[in-house]
Amino acid sequence: MVDKGITSLNVKVINRNKVYNCIYKEVFTSKQQIANKLQMGISTVSQNIKSLEKDGLIERNGNFDSTGGRRADIIQIVRNARVAIGVGILKKYVFIVAVDLYGEIIHSVTLNLPYESSRDYYKTIGDKVDEFIRTNQIKPESILGVSIATQGIISSDGQSVSYGVIMGNHEMKLSSFTEFIPYPCRLEHDCKAAAYLELWKNKDIENAVVFLLNRNLGGSFIINRRIFQGVNMHGGALEHLCINKDGPLCYCGNRGCLETYCSANTIENASGMEIQVFFENLRKGVNSCVQIWTDYLDKLAFAIRNLSIIIDGHIIISGYLAPFFTEDDISYILRAANSPPFPIERDQILVGTYGQYTPAAGAALHYLDEFLQTV
Ligand SMILES: [Zn+2]
Repeated sequence: MVDKGITSLNVKVINRNKVYNCIYKEVFTSKQQIANKLQMGISTVSQNIKSLEKDGLIERNGNFDSTGGRRADIIQIVRNARVAIGVGILKKYVFIVAVDLYGEIIHSVTLNLPYESSRDYYKTIGDKVDEFIRTNQIKPESILGVSIATQGIISSDGQSVSYGVIMGNHEMKLSSFTEFIPYPCRLEHDCKAAAYLELWKNKDIENAVVFLLNRNLGGSFIINRRIFQGVNMHGGALEHLCINKDGPLCYCGNRGCLETYCSANTIENASGMEIQVFFENLRKGVNSCVQIWTDYLDKLAFAIRNLSIIIDGHIIISGYLAPFFTEDDISYILRAANSPPFPIERDQILVGTYGQYTPAAGAALHYLDEFLQTV
C-alpha cells in the first residue's frame, strides 16, 4: 500500500512537471494543445493547470482566434515567477544581473568595485546584491539563487578558487560570499559560465570552442553538449595557447600566449583608448585603430583556425567584445582562418550578444535548469 501511495504521488509530480515544461517550451499554448503534445487526458491537464496557476507559475492571457466553438485560453508561464541572480566579478568591476525564467536579463548593473581579498569586500558585494534586489523590487521569495562567476579556476568541489593570478583571488571561497548573501549561492569560473550561456541559447550546439573576449581572454570547449573541464579544471584555457614563443610576457609567466594579443586589455593598451572609444574611432576609419584591429583579428583567426581543426564544430565569439563585431569582421576571420581541406562555414560562427554580462548571466542559468527539472 505504501509503495502504491509513493508511486501515485510520483506520477502526480511528474505530470505537473511535464505540463509546466510543455507550456514553457511552447511559450503560448492551450489546454488542448498540451493534452495533444503530452498524450495526456484533458482532465489531468486541467488539474495541473489549476495547480500551477494557484502557485502563480502560469497564467492565462487572452484567447486564441476561434476556429469554431469556444475560443481557447492562451496559457503561458509567468516569466518572472522565479528569478536567478548572477554576479560577474572582475579585477576592477562587478556586474549583477537578474534573469527571468527564459534566461533574459531583466535587470542589470555595472559597479566600479576593485577586488580586494578582505571581508569588507565580500560584505560590500552582499550589500550591493541586496540593494540590487530592493531597487528592482525583486521579491525575495522568487529568487532561486545567486551564482557568482569570477576569473580564476574553481576547485572541483566548487568551494574555492584554485588558480587566480589575474585578480590575486586565490583566497576566494564560496563561503566568503554566503556569509553575506542569504540565498543559495554557487561559484563558477567565468569562462565556463559563458559557455553555459551559449549552450542554453543554442540548442543545436554539439561541439564548440568558446572565445570569451573579455578584458582578459578566456575560453572553453563544449564537447557533446558538455563543458569540458579536464583533470585540473583548466581544460579549454585557450588564452594560454602559445602563438609566438618570443612574444610579450603573459601574466602566467610564459611568452606569446593568445592572451597577450587577443584580450580587450591589449587593445586598450595598444590604442591608449577605452574600448568604447576605440571602436568608435575604428568604425570612423582611424588608421591606427584599423591597424590594431586587423592585427587582433589576424591573431584570433590564427587561433580559430587551429582550434577548429581540433573541435570541428561551432566557433563562439562571446563576452565583452562580441557585440562590437560586424559582419565584415566575421568575413575577415573566415577568409583568414579558412584553410582547405578544413573550411569553416559562416553558420559555424556564432556571436554572443550579452557583452560584459555574459559570465554573470551564464552563471545564473544553472538555477533555472534546476528549477525546470524540479518544478
Ligand atoms: Zn599565458
